[in-house]
Amino acid sequence: MGLFSHRKTKFVDSDVLVIGGGMAGCGATYEARYWGRDLKVVCVEKANIERSGAVAQGLYAINCYMGMQWDENQPEDHVRYARNDLMGLVREDLGYDIARHVDATVHKFEEWGLPIMRDPETGRYQREGKWQIMIHGESYKPIVAEAARKAATEVYNRIMVTHLLMDKTKPNRVAGAVGFNVRTGDFYVFRAKAVIVAAGGASHIYKPRSVGEGMGRTWYAPWSSASAYALPILAGAKMTQMENRIVLTRFKDGYGPVGAYFLHLKTYTENAYGDEYESNWYDQTKELVGDYIDRHPVPTCLRNHAFLEEMKAGRGPIRMVTKEAFQDPHLETVGWENFLGMTVGQAVVWASQNIDPKHTNPELTTSEPYVMGSHATCSGAWASGPEDYAPDEYQWGYNRMMTIDGLFGAGDTIGGTAHKFSSGSYTEGRIAAKAAVNYIKDMGKDAPQVSEDEYQNLKKAVFQPMENYEVGRNEIVAGTVSPSYILPMHGLQRLEKIMDEYVGGIGAHYTTNEPLLTRGLELLDMLKEDLNHLGAEDLHQLQRAWELQHRVLASESVTHHTMFRTETRWPGYYYRADHPKLDDNDWHCFTLSRFHKESGEWEMEKAPVYHIVD
Ligand SMILES: Cc1cc2nc3c(=O)[nH]c(=O)nc-3n(C[C@H](O)[C@H](O)[C@H](O)COP(=O)(O)OP(=O)(O)OC[C@H]3O[C@@H](n4cnc5c(N)ncnc54)[C@H](O)[C@@H]3O)c2cc1C
Repeated sequence: MGLFSHRKTKFVDSDVLVIGGGMAGCGATYEARYWGRDLKVVCVEKANIERSGAVAQGLYAINCYMGMQWDENQPEDHVRYARNDLMGLVREDLGYDIARHVDATVHKFEEWGLPIMRDPETGRYQREGKWQIMIHGESYKPIVAEAARKAATEVYNRIMVTHLLMDKTKPNRVAGAVGFNVRTGDFYVFRAKAVIVAAGGASHIYKPRSVGEGMGRTWYAPWSSASAYALPILAGAKMTQMENRIVLTRFKDGYGPVGAYFLHLKTYTENAYGDEYESNWYDQTKELVGDYIDRHPVPTCLRNHAFLEEMKAGRGPIRMVTKEAFQDPHLETVGWENFLGMTVGQAVVWASQNIDPKHTNPELTTSEPYVMGSHATCSGAWASGPEDYAPDEYQWGYNRMMTIDGLFGAGDTIGGTAHKFSSGSYTEGRIAAKAAVNYIKDMGKDAPQVSEDEYQNLKKAVFQPMENYEVGRNEIVAGTVSPSYILPMHGLQRLEKIMDEYVGGIGAHYTTNEPLLTRGLELLDMLKEDLNHLGAEDLHQLQRAWELQHRVLASESVTHHTMFRTETRWPGYYYRADHPKLDDNDWHCFTLSRFHKESGEWEMEKAPVYHIVD
């Protein structure tokens, strides 16, 4: 028995267990109650669902709305759009499934009190772009959370889930999850018939541009700690497209969004000498990716590519031309309010750097890479598709069920479906919950069993970093440095350095190759050995320790996927210098991985891409 194993263990029984109460988790919780009136629906969240997840701070636009009631777009159009942006590779069945239901989700948000702006002339929702509608979204998350709270049997806030539990009678079936309360230190064993993982994406896998005092400033939420990937990976679920990390063009130093500027303010970019530069890189890009450069709209990664090449050619900085648009007082207000809605820090950065966009064109930069499945990239778990639409090869059970029985996912968790954003993630949560309820109903009395040995061993493992600290602190040699443990922050910085230098981060101009990836994997292995010696001085640091564990496992997955795909599919997101071109003959496919916990081996395979929409 460890020093901290005496901590209280609390048991929670549920039918549907939702892990993560962000957009997808709130959608899943709400919908599970609708289909499962008598079921016990539990949502567990490491923060507080009132203000948790990537939408915590509020948003200015809902980025996925078809507008079918006004015949603005059809679901097929959205599939074509996402496929084009992802250079041909998306799960069209999953994307279509979200697109056909997403409008109904947005209508619910409005019914629940979310103010959606209207076009004064047409009375329709105010469009910011083809897919985006504008909202007064400061309270977006509290509104969505309220519906989930009312639907749930119980919401457990402040519990960090660390591991899934497997059924002791059927090895490929999930049986629940364990975690600890980050305030009280109680250990929780959640027993469940079906589990929906909705634990968000991953920042701080790669070294961020903002380090030192600015380290918490990243584009994707700093608390998005890769649990959505690590939990299924450890349980043996197949993952897909983990190499498809995202890099964003953003306002420099504050990561302020540029979408509203391009779409609504009609601003544009230029190089340091005031010249348009994207067209200069057309021929070179065509060499690399062929006709994909001629698609409309130009895929996001290729626009990044032109930016990066122009910078490498020494004609940076690239600037957003705001001086013209900001002469219009209405557009000036919109420009500032855009940040107040979700990235107030950008306004502060500009104020601190004497940048008034009315008089100075602000600099842009490209972010460090992030791993996620709901924005413009599609990393995540490999999931079964909708019964009425998915090809046979994409169907092995219930909609959004992973390759583990009873384990479902939504939002950033599920791979292959980019461009779902907040509304699509919520919608996918609803889809997953409906399927999970059907799964439970079909299960009858054959419920999964939790093994006491398993959760007792996990309890010891979960609190081990506190024990390491308690014992090792007596040997401190200077400040916080101990020969017996590493602190979560040290481990995080080591991880970010490895990923940055070997797996295509900012320090390597997003470039890697097989020798670099091979060395990166060796270094990740050594880091993993040292993670057995993590030291946590309190519960807060214990949470950091487990977030780090999750990030490291997801990083390993990214590295293996990047190694497996021997082409450069998305120049502008990353480059395989040893395979610099897109190769549709060999790689017009998904990459899949499976981690074998006992051996530590990763098994890689290809899966076909089916084009269902013409
Ligand atoms: C800066 C930024 C701007 C964006 N702008 C827009 C926009 O304008 N419009 C738009 O539609 N979308 C936008 N998005 C995208 C949108 O926020 C995401 O697509 C959406 O939030 C994804 O939903 P999710 O449920 O998968 O993840 P999240 O909403 O991030 O929820 C994940 C939840 O899981 C919890 N969690 C994580 N790990 C654990 C664990 N181990 N145990 C328990 N709980 C855990 C987290 O605390 C969080 O509450 C933006 C995102 C960001 C970061």
